[in-house]
Amino acid sequence: MKIVMKFGGTSLTDGEGIKRVVEITKTSLLKEIKIVIIVSAMASITDSLFEVISRAELGDLEYIKDFIGKLATIHHNAVKVTVNDKEILEKAMSEINALVKELERILFSVSYLREATPRSRDYILSFGEKLSTAIVCAAFQNQKFEAYWFTGGEAGIITDDNFGDAKPLMNITTQQVKEKINPLVEEAQIPIITGYIARTQDNVTTTLGRGGSDYSATIIARALDFDEVWLWKDTDGIMTADPKIEPMATTIPIISYSEAIEMAYFGAKVIHPKALEPVFEQQIKVRIKNIFNPNGLDTIIEKHPWTNTDKIVKSIVMIRDVAMVTVSGTEMIGMPGIAAKVFGILGDNKINILMISQSSSEANISFIVPRGDLNNIVNVVESALLGSVVKNIYSESDICVVAVVGVGMKGIPGVAAKVFKAVADEGINVRMIAQGSSELNISFVVGEENDVRTVRALHKEFQMDKFNRSVSLI
Ligand code: ASP
Ligand code: MG
Repeated sequence: MKIVMKFGGTSLTDGEGIKRVVEITKTSLLKEIKIVIIVSAMASITDSLFEVISRAELGDLEYIKDFIGKLATIHHNAVKVTVNDKEILEKAMSEINALVKELERILFSVSYLREATPRSRDYILSFGEKLSTAIVCAAFQNQKFEAYWFTGGEAGIITDDNFGDAKPLMNITTQQVKEKINPLVEEAQIPIITGYIARTQDNVTTTLGRGGSDYSATIIARALDFDEVWLWKDTDGIMTADPKIEPMATTIPIISYSEAIEMAYFGAKVIHPKALEPVFEQQIKVRIKNIFNPNGLDTIIEKHPWTNTDKIVKSIVMIRDVAMVTVSGTEMIGMPGIAAKVFGILGDNKINILMISQSSSEANISFIVPRGDLNNIVNVVESALLGSVVKNIYSESDICVVAVVGVGMKGIPGVAAKVFKAVADEGINVRMIAQGSSELNISFVVGEENDVRTVRALHKEFQMDKFNRSVSLI
């Protein structure tokens, strides 16, 4: 059995977290499982790197110095807790110091230029993973494992140069990853690879988008043709709903690749939206496991969608940071090309649209966008469209989207009726509805004040607290 294990930032809060990573991996190694490890940056480090880039662009040297000091301390502390072998400790400390020094120099140059290009951003962001991976590697060596660490690029993940959201070039990646990593796996050594970061064919550092370590893990698994990918997070697998909203939420035993993609698309923080692409064809199973409860329930993501449970609806996802924009005008009725125009403008401005609906009278089109971009979006749409057939543009930001996801809804009549009856029985007004043509989800908009009640009503209606695990684990 060969497994890629990925440890996310929540597994890596401090030295204790890193020790847990080693312990968990050890259990599998004792069972003669071959392992490649992917490591994210320590908790919240990537966020803080984004922040320091903005400060550097303002020329805030004091902030940079203070940041660098704190960054060094966090990583020094983590390594001191995990490593007691003097030689390994010294080597890891000097690796950390060299990385931190280099990062400081780069941040100073950004602050003189007052500008970070997409390319230099990615380089700066890569330090989070390089620091954490160096420490995790030292922690394994400290336990007498033959472990080696690599950046994603060194391990052979090659991408295009779309900085910030780079796409892997799978053919060359497969070839290079095999060449570099396979010999170690065969020798039962432990390759430890930075998540999130990769490089172009010209050796320039790129990143795979936020949360991209999941993606690194599946890219490596596909390249090496491994059996499974285990993504270690801080919940018992993928839950039927956010347990902070619905205390009755429970672990979904098995879901299909397409359901998981649908959920990720709707912003459920279960997995990077693109991470299942590399493993889909080869049908490499992905498990979501809890670092704090390694023997507890987990979720398997695999091909077979429907043999596994008796549930029509598997998950309820709620997205809060969104706003609704409505474009209207009676002259829009029967006028071809209006929708193309609206969405063309949004596309040209790289605006991400979550949902679209058009009333059958055709007098208005509504769409859902990230709330943070709302002002910009309204300005763009107003200047391009107002005064033509579009008479009004209005927006609302006190809304949220609820998406009900499950492949069992496909072809089963009455699911939508059940969804909306449950919501209506709570006296909650539905403002907009959309159903993907895949029939994997029904999504709708309610006022933000009704968010929790909506999720709970649906959870109850579809009896989602009672998953039939014996059926599901066949
Ligand atoms: N450290 C990166 C991020 O926070 C990648 C990851 O955690 O998967 O987005
Ligand atoms: Mg992270």
